[in-house]
Amino acid sequence: MTTADATQARSSPGNSGGWQTIGHAAARLYLRRAHEAGRVAHAYLITGPDQVGKRTLAMDLARLVNCTPAQDMFGDDAPPPCGSCAPCDRISRNVHADIKVIDPHTPIRGLSSGTRESTPEQDAARTLISIGHIREMQHDVSLNPFEGGRRVVIFDGADRMSPDGAGWNALLKTLEEPPEKVVIVLLAPSADSLPQTVVSRCQLIELHAVPNEEIERGLIERGGADPETAAQLARLAGGCPGRAFAALNDETTLDRYRQAVLRVLVTSAGDVEERFRYANEMAREFGRNRELVSRELELWTSIWRDILLLKHGAADSVANITWTGSLSDAAAAVNADDPRQAIEAIAKAADGLRRNGMPRVVLEVLMLELPVIPPEIVEAIELGEADEPSDGGWDDPAS
Ligand SMILES: [Zn+2]
Repeated sequence: MTTADATQARSSPGNSGGWQTIGHAAARLYLRRAHEAGRVAHAYLITGPDQVGKRTLAMDLARLVNCTPAQDMFGDDAPPPCGSCAPCDRISRNVHADIKVIDPHTPIRGLSSGTRESTPEQDAARTLISIGHIREMQHDVSLNPFEGGRRVVIFDGADRMSPDGAGWNALLKTLEEPPEKVVIVLLAPSADSLPQTVVSRCQLIELHAVPNEEIERGLIERGGADPETAAQLARLAGGCPGRAFAALNDETTLDRYRQAVLRVLVTSAGDVEERFRYANEMAREFGRNRELVSRELELWTSIWRDILLLKHGAADSVANITWTGSLSDAAAAVNADDPRQAIEAIAKAADGLRRNGMPRVVLEVLMLELPVIPPEIVEAIELGEADEPSDGGWDDPAS
């Protein structure tokens, strides 16, 4: 391979060099161009759903602006972020003195006036970014970077700022008069979740769902996943690589997922009594763990979406691929309009729960509105005649 070939290979779309971000090619290109032109902004706001890759992109940006490119085997400088030079390596290991990630649980060191060192109990209990965090950030950015590059401060969950306004005002002051050699990166679900005065001081980078194939490739190349596991996890991740990687590193995730699918299918085939029992359990769970109930409703949606796709012969796009056989049977058995009605009813229930409607009533109404999947289809699964996944295997028995 010639040097030109090597350069070509490095810049091909499939080769992300030292970037750790999965997908988001446009955002990476935008930051790379800004860096090459010496126009990296003082403040960025990266928005997007949970686990879509906001924090990873922010860390890539930290590596990008601090990289001292190592030479590759051809004697060329690897394009930053190279991922292997000393600053890149230190940032990856979270030991770089000039890179700081602040979330509500970040300890307050008590270095700046007006803040006091926090205890681990206080850190664990804190649910918002406090004025103490902002004051410490201001103290830090007033100093020259220790390691000679650029200081990068990342606020993970910038929307979770203490509501009294003091935190925002202090942050705004820094954004209005940005110190040299400092990049502030705010991470939030959407620009709407921050005051407009703050948003207008930042370059906005919006991240959207990553295509399944890119997540799948990332799981294989970076996570060491086998192709079948990668395919299933990528489809379950809903466009969010972080979810897929978390599941890859936690074997119980797949097991919990299988149990949840069975629970949803059994409930779908159940009579009113059985469905109300399920609604009650979920309503009780809602009091303890809202997130879990919201994920369960996402699973209901994904199953009815799959049934809808299978009704239209779009088997390639099914999310719950291990269950394709049973869901095909269900698709053949339900009425043409059932999947759409089901998806609408689930969306309405999710909305009702968000608006703090009475969870038990909301979920009981949902159970009454959801179409019935014929019990024999679910009984076949329970008897192991259909899609019962083999131990650890992700073979699609329908194929
Ligand atoms: Zn580097």
